[in-house]
Amino acid sequence: MLLATDLDGTFLGGSSEQRQQLYQLIAAHPDIDLIFVTGRGLESVMPLLADPTIPQPDYIISDVGCTVVDGDNLQAVVEVQSRIDDKWPGEYTIHAAVEHIEGLVRQDVPQERRCSYFVAPDVMEKHREEIEQIGESLNCDVLYSADLYLDFLPRNVNKGSTLTALIEHLNIDKSDVMVAGDTLNDLSMYEHDFIGVCVGESEKGLLSATEGRARVYHASAPGAGGILEAFSHFGFLGTEGIDAESRDEVTPGSSDLVIIYHRLPYEEYIEDGEMKRRPHRSPNGIIPTLASFFKDGKKGAWVAWSIKDESLKTFETHTDVDKEKYPNLIAARVGLSKEEVDIFYKRFSKEAFWPTLHTFWERASFEEDHWNVFCEVNRKFAEQAACEAAEGATVWLHDYNLWMVPAYLRELRPDVNIAFFHHTYFPSADVFNVLPWRKEIVGSLLQCDYIGFHIPRQSENFIDVAKGVMPFDVVERTGCAPRFLTYGCAVGLDEMTTQIKVNDRIISLGAHPVGLDLNRVETALEKPDIQQRMEELRDELQGVKLVLSVERLDYTKGIPAKLEAFERLLEEHPELHGKVTLVTVCVPAAKEMTVYDELQSEIEQAVGRINGKYAQVGWTPVQFFFRAVPFDELVAYYAMADVMWITPLRDGLNLVAKEYVATQGQTSGKGVLVLSEFAGAAAEVKGAVLCNPHDPAEMAETCYFALSIHPDDAAARMAEAYDVVSYYDIDYWGKEFLSAVAASARKNGKGDHAGLTSVA
Ligand code: UDP
Repeated sequence: MLLATDLDGTFLGGSSEQRQQLYQLIAAHPDIDLIFVTGRGLESVMPLLADPTIPQPDYIISDVGCTVVDGDNLQAVVEVQSRIDDKWPGEYTIHAAVEHIEGLVRQDVPQERRCSYFVAPDVMEKHREEIEQIGESLNCDVLYSADLYLDFLPRNVNKGSTLTALIEHLNIDKSDVMVAGDTLNDLSMYEHDFIGVCVGESEKGLLSATEGRARVYHASAPGAGGILEAFSHFGFLGTEGIDAESRDEVTPGSSDLVIIYHRLPYEEYIEDGEMKRRPHRSPNGIIPTLASFFKDGKKGAWVAWSIKDESLKTFETHTDVDKEKYPNLIAARVGLSKEEVDIFYKRFSKEAFWPTLHTFWERASFEEDHWNVFCEVNRKFAEQAACEAAEGATVWLHDYNLWMVPAYLRELRPDVNIAFFHHTYFPSADVFNVLPWRKEIVGSLLQCDYIGFHIPRQSENFIDVAKGVMPFDVVERTGCAPRFLTYGCAVGLDEMTTQIKVNDRIISLGAHPVGLDLNRVETALEKPDIQQRMEELRDELQGVKLVLSVERLDYTKGIPAKLEAFERLLEEHPELHGKVTLVTVCVPAAKEMTVYDELQSEIEQAVGRINGKYAQVGWTPVQFFFRAVPFDELVAYYAMADVMWITPLRDGLNLVAKEYVATQGQTSGKGVLVLSEFAGAAAEVKGAVLCNPHDPAEMAETCYFALSIHPDDAAARMAEAYDVVSYYDIDYWGKEFLSAVAASARKNGKGDHAGLTSVA
C-alpha cells in the first residue's frame, strides 16, 4: 500500500486530532509506503522531517514534480530525476531570457528545476506572447495562475507524471496506490488510474474536474481527516478497517507532576546482591527542592535510571522516596544495564555533547551506535513517564541527557504538559550545528510546552539553532533587564524571545538561573569544626592574601589559563611575592575519563613551574589540592578567601561563585568575586569583577584589581551580589520555573492539573 499525498491543506491540514490519528496510523503500519508530493521546494520540506510527530516519507516529490528524492538520504532517484533534468534548461538560462521584462519579480522561496515569478495581470497581458515564446524556445511549460504566479517548468512535468514514473520505477502495482490532494495543481495525480481522495474543502476546480470519477472519493473532512475517511471508503487497510489497526494506547497514570532527573532522590548501592539505599552524599540543593513540590501529599513520580544488574535478585520498578515527608511521591526506576549507563550517560553524553555544548566541538567524537543507545534509553524514560503521568499532567525533564524524551513522550501522550530545563551551557548555532543529530534534537525539544535555560543568552542561542531547523513565528519578546546584564558581559542580552508558535502550538521560553540553598551555607558556618578550620586558615594566612579557585577538572574551567595569568601577575608585580597565595581546589574526574589525563599533567606542570620559579622559604605561591573537598570545609575556605577567582571559558551557570557570595554575605565579608564573563552567573550576579578568560592580560589585571581594591568598593560589590544570591535562591528557582510552566500550559489551552500555580 502506498499513500502519495500533497502536504499543505491535505496531509498537513485538518484538525490536530485527525492529523495525529493519521500520523500514528501510518507510523504503526510499516506496510504503508508514504510519498510526499508537494509544490514546495525540497528545502521547505526539510523542517517536516525534523518534526518527530510527522511520519517520515519513503520518497519526496517536490517542486510540483520536478524533484524526486529518497526520503532517507534525500538523494535523487536518479532513474526518474535524470529524465526531468534532461528537459530543464537551467534556472539562469530562464532568468537571462526574461530579465529584460519589467515587472517580473522572482519569488523568494527555495526551488529547483523551476522558476517562479510574481507578475501583475497587466504586465502579463502586455508580455504574454513573448513569455510564451520564451517558454516554447526553452522547452518549458509556462503556467500563469491566480492573476499573480508565473511558473516555468520542464515540459510535461507535473506531480502526476513524476509520481507515475516513480511508481513504475519501484515496480509497485498501481492498484496499491492512493493519492490525496486539495488543489488544482494536484489534478495530474488523479489522471493515472490511481484511487484518490480530494479532501474536504478542496478547491472547486479540483472537485469539478474529478466529479463523477469512480476511483476518486470526495471526502467531507478537510486535510488528514479526509484521508482517514478515504482509507475507510476504499478499505485501504483491509476489511478490519482503521480502528483495529491503531496503536496500543498508553493508559494514563495518577501522577500530576512527573520529574525526570538523572539521579534518584536517594543514592543506591549494591550489597550482597541486593540494592540498598542511603541519602545522597553530595546533595546539590536541586534534589530537595524538586522533592519539596511533593510536600502536603501532592501526587507525583520521580523517574530516574537505576542499574538493572544480573547479580541483583530482584528489581523493583517503583519505590517510596520518603513516606513521611512525601507520602504520595514514588520513584519510578528505569532499569538500565551497566553498558547502557556507560554509553548513554558517561561516554556518549560526555564525549559528544558536553564538549560541543561548551563550544569545544573539536574535542567531540560522534558515534552513530552510541546515538542509537542514547535514543533507546531516552525512549525508556519517555515510556516510563507516559505510564506515570495523569491526564494533563506536567512532566519536567532535566538536561541534555534527556534531549530525545519529548519526541517519544509527545507521541505517547499528546495531552501532557512537557517542560524542560537545560542545566548546561547552550552554545550558538554555528557550534551546536556541528552535532550530527541536531535536527532530531531540536525537533524533539520543540515538542515541549516550556523550555528553560539559566540565562537569556543561552535561550536565545537555542532560538537561533531552532531557526535553522524549522520555521516559526516569534510571538513574544521580553526585555532582560533589570534581572540580567544586557551589554555588561559576554553572555549578556538586551531582549529575549519568550514565546514562539510552531505550527499551531505555542512554546514558551524563559531564563531561570539555578539558585542556592542558603541554609546549607549557614549550617556549615555554624559548625564548630568549620569555625575551627576557619581559625586555622586565618592563622596560616597571616599577612598573605588568599586567592581561591574551586572547580572540577575540566577543560571548560580554564585552569591552565588561570595559572598562566597568576604567573604573569607575579612577574608583573614583584611586590606581591610572599603576599598572595593561590589555593586551587580541583576535583579529579572519574578514573575512566581518560580525556582529562592530558589536562591534569598540563596543570601539574604549570603549578610546578610557578612554584619552582617563585617559591620562597615560608611561601608557596600556588597550593594545589587535587581532590574533592567536602562542602562544609569549602565554606571555610570561601569565608577566608580575599579573592574568589572563577574563570571558566564556558559555564552554564557556576554554583561555586554563588556559594562564595553566600558565605561572604553571611559573614559580612569583604571578599571580591572575580568571575569569567562567559559563566552564566556573570549575567545574573551583579557586583562581581568580570574578566575575559581568553585575555591573559585582563585576567592578571582584574586579579590585581581585586587584590588592591578599596575595602568600601569591595563591601558594596559584595552587598550587591549577596542581594541577588539570597533573593533568587533555590526555592525561588523551582517555584518560578513551575509557575512559568503553568502559565504556558494555559496558553496552550491546557489546565493546571499539577496545581503548579499554587507553588509560586
Ligand atoms: N564542590 C564540592 N567540593 C569540591 C569542589 C566543588 O563540593 O571540592 C561542589 C561545589 O560546592 C559546587 C559544585 O561542586 O556546588 C560545582 O558546581 P558548579 O556549578 O560550580 O560547577 P559544575 O561542576 O556543575 O560545572
